[in-house]
Amino acid sequence: MTFDWSSSEVVGLAKEGCTHCLGMGLRSTARVEAMPCSCVLRRIFRTCYGKFRYCASREKHLGKVCLETLAGSDGNFCWGMKDEEYMADFCLVSKRSLETDEYRIFRLHFLLGADWRLCCKLLKFDRGSFFHQVYRIEQKLGRVYRELRPHALFPLDEYFGGKVRTDFSEYYEKVRRMPPLPERGSPLRAPLKKVA
Ligand SMILES: [Zn+2]
Repeated sequence: MTFDWSSSEVVGLAKEGCTHCLGMGLRSTARVEAMPCSCVLRRIFRTCYGKFRYCASREKHLGKVCLETLAGSDGNFCWGMKDEEYMADFCLVSKRSLETDEYRIFRLHFLLGADWRLCCKLLKFDRGSFFHQVYRIEQKLGRVYRELRPHALFPLDEYFGGKVRTDFSEYYEKVRRMPPLPERGSPLRAPLKKVA
């Protein structure tokens, strides 16, 4: 079973003002009822790629070993290096999904970080053709990352078991912490006015 692209999740991923889907995230074609718009697929790719770069940029010794719940099991845990697993999955899934020519571009540009000038020189592309290929690769992989079974790479919070980031700044730590409960009997009210 593949991912249902007509779900509400897609609207939230669409690019505002996209000329193809008008921000709805879907494109109707004569053959297929609902197709994800390229803006949605590229957004998924970029989110996953951003996470890959974030993981790769961290020092090796900072990789955390986490106790994870095993999917589908009750109360079973295993130890895992989640960031490292994600980076490996990202590379393997991408390699498996791309044709040899596409993977050469992907590896050079996204994994090794060569800019468009160097890529064009090494791969003998002009600028227009290079970016055309890059967009195609982003769309292709965006779809794969979301449709992947049993564990999709996207959304990241599901992949990481609800823990995408643990390195919140102090400010966010305070935001995430629940406020203390009011004393018994007093109603729970939003702070409408700052109390001196
Ligand atoms: Zn769109």
